[in-house]
Amino acid sequence: NKNNDDQALCGLSQEQLDAHWMPYSGNREFKKDPRLIVSAKGNYYTSADGRKIFDGLSGLWTCGAGHSRPEIIEAVSRQVKELDYSPAFQYGHPKSFELAHRITELMPEGLNRVFFTGSGSESVETALKVARAYWRKKGQASKTRFIGRVKGYHGVNWGGVSVGGIVGNRALYGQGIDAVHLPHTMLPENLFSKGMPETGAHLADELEAMLALHDASNIAAVIVEPLAGSAGVIPPPVGYLKRLREICDKHNILLIFDEVITGFGRMGSNTGAEEFGVVPDMMTIAKQLTNGVIPMGAMVAKQEIYDTFMEAGGAEYMLELPHGYTYSAHPVACAAGLASLDILAQDKLVERVKTVSPQFQEMLHSLKGTKYVSDIRNYGLAGALTIESAPGEPALRPFQIAMKCWEKGFYVRCGGDTIQLGLPFTVENAEIDNVINALGESINELA
Ligand code: PLP
Repeated sequence: NKNNDDQALCGLSQEQLDAHWMPYSGNREFKKDPRLIVSAKGNYYTSADGRKIFDGLSGLWTCGAGHSRPEIIEAVSRQVKELDYSPAFQYGHPKSFELAHRITELMPEGLNRVFFTGSGSESVETALKVARAYWRKKGQASKTRFIGRVKGYHGVNWGGVSVGGIVGNRALYGQGIDAVHLPHTMLPENLFSKGMPETGAHLADELEAMLALHDASNIAAVIVEPLAGSAGVIPPPVGYLKRLREICDKHNILLIFDEVITGFGRMGSNTGAEEFGVVPDMMTIAKQLTNGVIPMGAMVAKQEIYDTFMEAGGAEYMLELPHGYTYSAHPVACAAGLASLDILAQDKLVERVKTVSPQFQEMLHSLKGTKYVSDIRNYGLAGALTIESAPGEPALRPFQIAMKCWEKGFYVRCGGDTIQLGLPFTVENAEIDNVINALGESINELA
């Protein structure tokens, strides 16, 4: 019926749909039958065809405090009226300093210098550039290479794609920067582990083998996500991150944690570093920092790194680090960040993740035995299923499952051969049951 179709398309013409080259989307499929979202409140979206859709991934791991929080709306509106933009270079506005300090209060001991960016990808590029420049400032200019990890996701810019370990993100783009990769930590003996798998710490020793080949004098930094998110929620094996830290210390290599997903609550602690008990030299954050309302990221460094730049900075009017973005510390983003971090504290949402995650774990693992489900992993309010590939088409079934969930009123993410959940920190017990049940039914409906 024409009226219903118009509503579902929000009156958009085919030309308008075609004009937007959508990111990480099957553009041809989407534009044939668009899934349009027109509003959001709490843990739900409203689709253009008028349905309530549960947000099973908190946006893109961004909106843990739920959508349309009045505190953030007010803070952002006030800020736009008062100071909509101010130049990011050589001039400042008070909120960036307030927010930087607030962030450092949530960081593990020692991470206390915050460089603002506009996204997770920019935060990663910043960390990689700072790592190289740091060694140069210390007179060790040969330390330029990076070590990432297979299945790592560090955003989509050159450095991040190079240290990243997801083939689909690398295959098309030719050379990046010089990087080698640790093996991922998914071992057959750890299938269906709840939380951190028991075995796998020995995989960190591969770093020793890499250094024996490449030599630490050529390596700037190791970068990993403490829990790999985009490849399908891969929690670190017990002892693994600690071993990486020890080897980096022994060989004088910086350790970078990419906490764009794990920062600010999703693990049940302020950071993955805190939850897993290992402190990196630099950390990248984004997403939950502003509850997804305004784009913003940051790289947080140990003071010694910052001090190295200051001490080797030359005359005081000179730039110690020629790097930054037009939208670094954007005043509206800072206002959103301050309001979001206030909500996390006031509503005790990080603690809430700890409280509700056991039920999430039990429900998610109840899907063991469902057809095509070949692994289940979880930590905090992050979880994923690996789905057996249809012949030659590893990503097909997860896509079909996600579409069936959407039809039933649930948004979940399909990524590669996985289905991923990142529930809002505000999730209710019944909502956990509902989304897992819908997921189970959707899988069972597959041919
Ligand atoms: N790093 C990690 C661990 C991420 O999960 C992401 C995004 O999902 C990024 C970096 C890139 O962030 P953005 O998409 O904001 O550039």
